[in-house]
Amino acid sequence: MRNFYLILLLGYTLGSSAQNGYPVETFRSPLDIPLVLAGTFGELRSNHFHSGIDIKTQQRQGLPIYAIGDGTITRIKVSLWGYGKVLYVAHPNGYTSVYGHLQKFSPSIEAFIKKTQYQKKSYEVEVFPEYGDIEVSKDEIIAYSGNTGGSSGPHLHFEIRSSITEKPTNPLLYGFDIRDATNPTLTGLYGYPLTENSHLNQSEQKIQLNFTKQKDGSFLADKVTALGTIGFGFVGFDRQDLAANKNGLYSVRQIVNGKVYTDYDFESFSFSETRYINTLIDYEHFGAYRKRIQKCFRTAGNNLSIYNTLVNDGKIVVKEGLSYNVELILFDFEGNNIKVVIPVEGRKLPILKKKDNKATDNFVIAKRPNNFDLGLAKVYFPTNTFYENFFIDLKSGIDTITIHNNRVAAHRNFTITFDASKYSEAERKQLFIARLDKKMVPNYASTYKRGSTFTTRTRNFGMYTLAKDTLAPKIRTKNFKHKQWLNNYRYLSLLISDDLSGIDTFSATLNGEWILMEYEPKTKTLTYNFDDKILDKKQCELKVIVKDNVGNTNVLDVSFYRK
Ligand SMILES: [Zn+2]
Repeated sequence: MRNFYLILLLGYTLGSSAQNGYPVETFRSPLDIPLVLAGTFGELRSNHFHSGIDIKTQQRQGLPIYAIGDGTITRIKVSLWGYGKVLYVAHPNGYTSVYGHLQKFSPSIEAFIKKTQYQKKSYEVEVFPEYGDIEVSKDEIIAYSGNTGGSSGPHLHFEIRSSITEKPTNPLLYGFDIRDATNPTLTGLYGYPLTENSHLNQSEQKIQLNFTKQKDGSFLADKVTALGTIGFGFVGFDRQDLAANKNGLYSVRQIVNGKVYTDYDFESFSFSETRYINTLIDYEHFGAYRKRIQKCFRTAGNNLSIYNTLVNDGKIVVKEGLSYNVELILFDFEGNNIKVVIPVEGRKLPILKKKDNKATDNFVIAKRPNNFDLGLAKVYFPTNTFYENFFIDLKSGIDTITIHNNRVAAHRNFTITFDASKYSEAERKQLFIARLDKKMVPNYASTYKRGSTFTTRTRNFGMYTLAKDTLAPKIRTKNFKHKQWLNNYRYLSLLISDDLSGIDTFSATLNGEWILMEYEPKTKTLTYNFDDKILDKKQCELKVIVKDNVGNTNVLDVSFYRK
């Protein structure tokens, strides 16, 4: 009886879920190397929170990726961007694991996806297999790690989502073993006067605050004088034990006179809210200095669900003659934390630094659609493109327009329409809308053409113009030469590039039949695997066609021999 009870008890603690409600010790690790993170869940990225963990793969590709539990494959995608080659496995406990930037899939999955690629004659494909069609079991090798898609170095992007809501959850909640006894680091502290009449350290503008380390390991900020409604923000990161990577924090708490004002964490969020990261950070500061200040107060347009507690939107109302003790505590997932104390004194003092006057001729009201005619082009901002009203800076040059600057975030796409009627029809074919970068290099913006009206939809501010691409893409062979014998070759590779508008499509045939070429934009390489097709001919004719974004096309015909 007693033994039976013990087994029940053990079964309960090991089997299902811990206090947090997530199944712990159910899933195995997706890799068989120690888990070292190059990125954490919720980490602040461009226009999104990181929706998984990035696991380092020892600067290598091709490490086996294991199914973390029994399940069925519900989605396979091959894309040039984003997750690259990615697998989704739904598990019976209601969670879906996601494995991204893969080099290749396991042989059976690879065969399955290649069938689709040959059917659709496309490298980029997305398939949603029927539930139960491709089952995998725990510990099964389902893929090999890589660097495909929007990845800048070999690693595994790993997610665990709720299968029903598709909300990504923090993978660390499932009990993976990641060594972390290292405290987060605080690198910057800022105070913000938040209303018309408030000031902080005699400034109506944001002020950087100094802080020093105390004997007990916490930090103390220099005393702040303020009046009216104020808020605080910080720059910080977390590091795990085994790598120097600056990763994201897990949670943040702001306590005012002993009361929790702000508390948010990265347990989970939804993809539909991820872009609101631009309201959590001080976007203007990010635009100017590329540093992300996390605000401990909530500003206009912030629809984030990450807050557990938010008193008065995290804003502090400072009254004359009163003192406030503000504490910010930054936590990593393991609970390692650092604290900074900011003493605030309510005092009315003369203002030394006034508000910035940013008035321009054009004021944008966020809750309304806004149309501007700049002569050369028209700009249309739909309702709620922006979080807040602001003075927009619009300039028009001889053949460029400038739409504000990178200090404001657009939450939705807006439209830029150029009139290309002064160009001949032949010229218009090679023209496209380009965004000029800092070095004035034109970057292709997806251009829709209707007669002489060119339109692009974008969220990027900056300088735009019409640019002309007259040169077709370049194609050259990389690992073989025309009329060469290739008996022991496992693959063919070619290099493709375009000078201006960029590569739009590519295709290849071998002896007149479509063949799958894998394209890696980072290395500009096209690869054909000889395993794909058995060649019955001795002499092979390879034809590669590459088209750029305005339709300039190049064709390479090359032959080789194979026994
Ligand atoms: Zn990632």
